[in-house]
Amino acid sequence: MTKSFYPPLRTLMGPGPSDVSPRVLAALSRPTIGHLDPEFIRMMDEVKEMLQYAFKTSSPLTMPISAPGSAGMEACFVNLVEPGDKVIVCQNGVFGGRMKENVERFGGIAIMVEDEWGTPVDPAKVEAAFAANSDVKLLAFVHAETSTGVLSDAKSLCQIAQNNGALTIVDTVTSLGGSELDVEGWGIDAVYSGTQKCLSCPPGISPVSFSQRAVEVIEQRESKTPSWFLDQKLVMGYWGGGAKRAYHHTAPVNSLYAFHESLVMLEEEGLENAWARHQFHHSALRAGLEAMGIGFLVEEAYRLPQLNSVFVPEGVDEAEVRSKLLANYNLEIGAGLGALAGKVWRIGLMGSACNKQNVLLCLSALENTLS
Ligand code: PLP
Repeated sequence: MTKSFYPPLRTLMGPGPSDVSPRVLAALSRPTIGHLDPEFIRMMDEVKEMLQYAFKTSSPLTMPISAPGSAGMEACFVNLVEPGDKVIVCQNGVFGGRMKENVERFGGIAIMVEDEWGTPVDPAKVEAAFAANSDVKLLAFVHAETSTGVLSDAKSLCQIAQNNGALTIVDTVTSLGGSELDVEGWGIDAVYSGTQKCLSCPPGISPVSFSQRAVEVIEQRESKTPSWFLDQKLVMGYWGGGAKRAYHHTAPVNSLYAFHESLVMLEEEGLENAWARHQFHHSALRAGLEAMGIGFLVEEAYRLPQLNSVFVPEGVDEAEVRSKLLANYNLEIGAGLGALAGKVWRIGLMGSACNKQNVLLCLSALENTLS
């Protein structure tokens, strides 16, 4: 007979998922109720309000998609890109490449702005791409590149898009709750994130928000949105609000309890305090790593506090170190991706995992394993 599955108790300090708060896990196990139950609908309204707070937007088209971050990405592109549309896509890591895939799969023309992995998106190159191309509909970029640990200047990039009459799609999977983000203030038109990074929640839900301008563009589409599940006009029948909610799909009821709890925790802590906590523990981790002679891939000004890409010391088998950390300390850290595979480790300090105990565990475990 197959037995029940009991996972080991790990400390998750990789690129995500990160440690889930016990409060969030407890919320996940509360009794399932109907996804149109009046009490559930009341909770949905609270989720929307708290998500507006987390994104810093008043847009009513703010909601969680019932699927992981990749679905949030796809929801933004599938609703906003029509065949023949020109989209400037910035790539400085893995996830910009996925944006290009999305644009092309929905019939758009991706105009690529490339920056070296480990560096931020260069606003001057984006300006040049707008100058060289007319009728650009959208600018798409990743705010916090999880593959490298780089933060790009979303405010300036959105300003460039606005100056050129283009809408913006911004990936905030790793930044939401961990780094400054001001969706309305910066004029972001479509934004998506994930629950498994700085929100202390399990994976599987993707918060999104669309501006009024984006809503108008979606409503005026010439072609039918090619995805039924992610068509925002249909999703709004369920998430739109008020008593008129109608069945679209069966919402992941317990996952939304968990998400609700993680947003309650964010509200209790305060958004700015959460950003400051990530910065504070990053500084401690950095000091410890540097004392061990371990250097950072990314220049200090562009470093993400929640995702630390550090060079593997010369002559060290990086995969063996990660295996030992897992076996001896139940500690997970991440490997490098693509061109950075074998060269860097990615040490996450995200959400609940971003605390003093984890910093100390990681530093001592790494030091013992390397010596
Ligand atoms: N975008 C970024 C920047 C990410 O880090 C990730 C996941 O790590 C995704 C998109 C995709 O999210 P998911 O794996 O939840 O589908």
